[in-house]
Amino acid sequence: MKKNKVKIGVLGGTFDPIHNGHLIIAERIREEFKLDKVLFIPSGNPPHKTKQKVTQCNHRLNMVCEALKGNPFFEVSSIEIKRMGYTYTVDTIEELRGFLGDNACIYYLIGADVLFDLLTWKDYESVFKTCEFIATLRPGNETDDFAKQIMYLESTFQAKINKADIPLVEISSTEIRQRVNEGKSIKYLIPESVEKYIKDNKLYVLNERE
Ligand code: ATP
Repeated sequence: MKKNKVKIGVLGGTFDPIHNGHLIIAERIREEFKLDKVLFIPSGNPPHKTKQKVTQCNHRLNMVCEALKGNPFFEVSSIEIKRMGYTYTVDTIEELRGFLGDNACIYYLIGADVLFDLLTWKDYESVFKTCEFIATLRPGNETDDFAKQIMYLESTFQAKINKADIPLVEISSTEIRQRVNEGKSIKYLIPESVEKYIKDNKLYVLNERE
């Protein structure tokens, strides 16, 4: 960790929808690593021909904005949404670096699922050179595998990966979508304002994402 530089955490994700797991890990990491700010960056919509079905980016962005209200350390950025087609972290970091300048340290926050996917990222070696990571365990990932993957990425690719020592939070967007679809309660899993947004806009109801 570098001293005397502005420390910016970046939490990129689909946020379909944002949930309390995202908010809890971002807040705990901000505190533990003394970050000046955490930027939430929702991904853009994938181009037409993909099989992946993701809720329209305006809804995902609006839900993130609702969720971040009241935390002065949290900010949303629409840089990935504004870009057309697939968005790659390497381009996002480069763009952020452009307006943050060299006096900022960028810490990319990731859950364990993403840790195991890092080598599929476009130009991952370039990403490893331009930012550090802060990784958290997620339920379903073994502590040993998590530690081994960090050691492997650090020794083989000189990635810098800090481990966040925070409690596991068993919430995922998949679970939220399923629960809404099944008419089950999502209370206490997401902020109330996001719950209202989902209801008002009839998101995640039967076949909505088809
Ligand atoms: P989905 O269930 O649709 O895959 P998700 O809950 O993983 O979604 P994303 O928006 O894909 O949410 O996640 C963005 C980032 O937040 C990723 O790095 C992911 O690992 C991390 N993350 C999400 N939920 C948690 C959680 N409960 N604990 C730790 N990290 C999390």
